[in-house]
Amino acid sequence: MITEKRFCEKCMQKTIQQIIEKEDTIYTYKRKRIYKCQQCGNPVFKRGLRPSSESVY
Ligand SMILES: [Zn+2]
Repeated sequence: MITEKRFCEKCMQKTIQQIIEKEDTIYTYKRKRIYKCQQCGNPVFKRGLRPSSESVY
C-alpha cells in the first residue's frame, strides 16, 4: 500500500492518504490517481498534467 502525506480538503489538514493509481481506459496516456484519505475516507481524484481537458470532464 502506497501512502503519501497530502492535504485533505475535508480534514483541513495534512493526512496520510492512500494512493490508488488507475490507468484511464480510454486515454491510456493519462494516469488517474486517487488519493484516499485514511482519516475521513474521502477520495480525491488527481489527474495528469492536462489542464486543457479539464472542461470535458
Ligand atoms: Zn480527510
